Amino acid sequence: TTVEDWKRSDAYHNSFLLAEDPSLTAALKHSHEEGLPHIEVSAAQGKFLHLLVKSAGAKRVLEVGTLAGYSTIWLARGVPEDGSVVTLELEEKHAKVAKENFATAAVADKITVIVGPAADTIKTLESNPPFDFAFIDADKAGNLTYFTETKRLVKSGGVIIVDNVVRNARVADPDLTDASIEGVRKLLKAIKEDTEVEATTIGTVGDKGYDGFLYAVRK
Ligand code: SAM
Repeated sequence: TTVEDWKRSDAYHNSFLLAEDPSLTAALKHSHEEGLPHIEVSAAQGKFLHLLVKSAGAKRVLEVGTLAGYSTIWLARGVPEDGSVVTLELEEKHAKVAKENFATAAVADKITVIVGPAADTIKTLESNPPFDFAFIDADKAGNLTYFTETKRLVKSGGVIIVDNVVRNARVADPDLTDASIEGVRKLLKAIKEDTEVEATTIGTVGDKGYDGFLYAVRK
């Protein structure tokens, strides 16, 4: 199977399970017109995150890595009317495009964007009230820092998802040592010794190729 096969497979499943969504289509269009990279989660993954938030009954959600807010919109739609999402983004420009997308999608009142290096901004967040759910999807070198801080912020039973932990099986290739791969390895090694979480990797495949989510639950 090639990536083209998986793109077709994703499109096939989505044709039954994901209705056309003008706000999300507009968000992607706006992002690309503004020259932001095309590195958001896929539609099926966005819906998966949305359903996880709903099934967890999460009211307070944290995201690390906003980009144009595509995943943020999915998350925000999963929380109840009085729920909220805090999303952390390094780039001023990405945050601006994201805020425009939140307004178009009518979810702006649920979302707070904090601009700056997430390693610093995440330290300003408080765990009271705690977050119920978190999605980590920023620079992969920062994974362990974001995970450690997120653990401080989520309730017992809270869920932490980390994206791109498989990277087309390259994370397990001993010949490769780039910063993103090393960032994932560092996280996995730390979790092995971590008595505060239970976690598993779940592979994902579709129009973004082969990758995976780490799914962790705070004890
Ligand atoms: N979660 C988004 C989605 O699926 O729609 C995609 C996020 S994109 C993969 C990663 C984002 O993390 C980029 O917008 C990038 O600017 C941001 N980022 C990179 N380094 C960062 C840092 N040190 N602190 C906060 N955000 C960072």
